[in-house]
Amino acid sequence: MCCGKSEETMRELRRAVIAGRHVLLLRPAVDTRTETDEARSRSGMTFPAQTLPDSSKILSTVEAAGANFIAFDEGQFWDDGIIAAVQALVDKRLIVIVNGLNQDYLGRPFGPMPTLMALSDEVRMLKAICQVCGEEATKTQRLHADGSPAGPDEQLILPGGFDQAHEVDRYEARCRTHHLIGPKHQRRR
Ligand SMILES: [Zn+2]
Repeated sequence: MCCGKSEETMRELRRAVIAGRHVLLLRPAVDTRTETDEARSRSGMTFPAQTLPDSSKILSTVEAAGANFIAFDEGQFWDDGIIAAVQALVDKRLIVIVNGLNQDYLGRPFGPMPTLMALSDEVRMLKAICQVCGEEATKTQRLHADGSPAGPDEQLILPGGFDQAHEVDRYEARCRTHHLIGPKHQRRR
């Protein structure tokens, strides 16, 4: 998180537009940070986007758009069907970019991202800055409203997305040293 992956994706999309590609940016419906017709980076950069409820609509949407350069936002939030869809797209020699978090707040592989990384021709690891020490950050720290670290048995929720029960939790980029996991069975307050 906070590593500039959305900016990086939008930069690639703009370059593709200049190169005459027909680009399409797809977002999973679970990301509720922005309105559905555009993606917005933390620094305020925007790009037109289509939001899909799940992966089953990917291929028909790409075909309807006539796109030959397809980017997926928040890869970790897509269902596993994105894997076969991406493979079908690259088999047609279309260009595909997927951005996402490779680990969840507990440091576990996140959704379809590990498989997508393994199948990719190129993987770019973007690193944020640890908000404690300023070193390179590869972890996502989940914090409760009182500043205590979230424990291992809490419901996995969406960085940047909000649901009623967890809207007070926040996320920070952290290095391995400063990534903390709270005790088990800690009840949220
Ligand atoms: Zn640190």
